[in-house]
Amino acid sequence: MKYNFGAGPCILPQEVFKQAAQAVLEFDHTGLSILEISHRTPEFEAVVAETERLVRTLLNVPEGYSVIFLQGGASLQFSMVPMNLLGDGKKAAYTDTGVWANKAIKEGKLFGEINVIASSKDANYTFIPKDYEVPHDAAYFHCTSNNTIYGTEMHQFPKSPVPVVCDMSSDIFSREVNVADFGLIYAGAQKNMGPAGVTLVIVKDEILGKIDRKIPSMLDYKIHIEGESMYNTPPVFSIYVSMLNLKWLKAKGGVPAIAQENLAKARALYAEIDRNPLFKGTCAVEDRSNMNICFVMENPELEKDFLKFAEDRDIIGIKGHRSVGGFRASMYNALPISSVHFLVDTMQEFAEKHA
Ligand SMILES: *Cc1c(COP(=O)(O)O)cnc(C)c1O
Repeated sequence: MKYNFGAGPCILPQEVFKQAAQAVLEFDHTGLSILEISHRTPEFEAVVAETERLVRTLLNVPEGYSVIFLQGGASLQFSMVPMNLLGDGKKAAYTDTGVWANKAIKEGKLFGEINVIASSKDANYTFIPKDYEVPHDAAYFHCTSNNTIYGTEMHQFPKSPVPVVCDMSSDIFSREVNVADFGLIYAGAQKNMGPAGVTLVIVKDEILGKIDRKIPSMLDYKIHIEGESMYNTPPVFSIYVSMLNLKWLKAKGGVPAIAQENLAKARALYAEIDRNPLFKGTCAVEDRSNMNICFVMENPELEKDFLKFAEDRDIIGIKGHRSVGGFRASMYNALPISSVHFLVDTMQEFAEKHA
């Protein structure tokens, strides 16, 4: 067993792995593997329905919103969003808070005018810009709630006169959000929802169908809504394992309960980063992410040694992204607080050796 702090795909609960393994052998007393069952069977239709119900319950999704499961990752949403929401000659407002936001901006430009209304690029994305107003004439406002690579998180969302579209890939289901404040939320599953291969989209129905562009069927939200996520063969296994994971979350007390745990985990590690003379955080304290915790060493020459020291103790996935360097500990829902304590102990041991 490793202590897996990987950024994604990432740790899921052990019991989910066990149930998923069982379903590969036989799914729900059908005599069939989950990998061979038709998506048109009542048994699998029930899985999709249950997964949708869990999303709606866990996030308190209000009436008037559709919940769909797509493919193509969060990255395809970078183009699907403008394709469906940004009419010809219209503009959209984006914040530039990191690598993923940048990719969303790049794709958006293929469909219309993109106004970058705030950016922390000049500070290597170490903070969340807050001093901006969302313009009234934008088709929508796009933001990234958690910047997985840089370790910053929006702890508040701005008031917006236009629909807010948010990439919540790396902090969905980790804390409470008011879905009614958003026009569209999307998330690749492989951080907090399930395995890679499925993408969650929650969209307010009334914002769709307002533009004239011809949209290929597979890229049209309305087609997937009408098809109840089964316009074509859905990622059967990814949806099934997401369902198991969301059931696990519900049994734990849902989002409010996991949010408390996530806060305790983040506090424990940030406290050590701030206390330990060998380490320091990379982001503005008020914008620090509770999911992806980035830190470096006061003496960068020790970083290789610490990485090896940690790996020798079965701590994996903490090497920072190349655009930040140092370390990144991703602490998604399924990471137990005992793993965080173990990482903290390891940092302390290392500091004692190098005192
Ligand atoms: C991981 C991630 C993505 C990319 O997701 P894919 O499913 O690989 O396309 C996009 N945005 C954020 C915030 C992410 O963390």
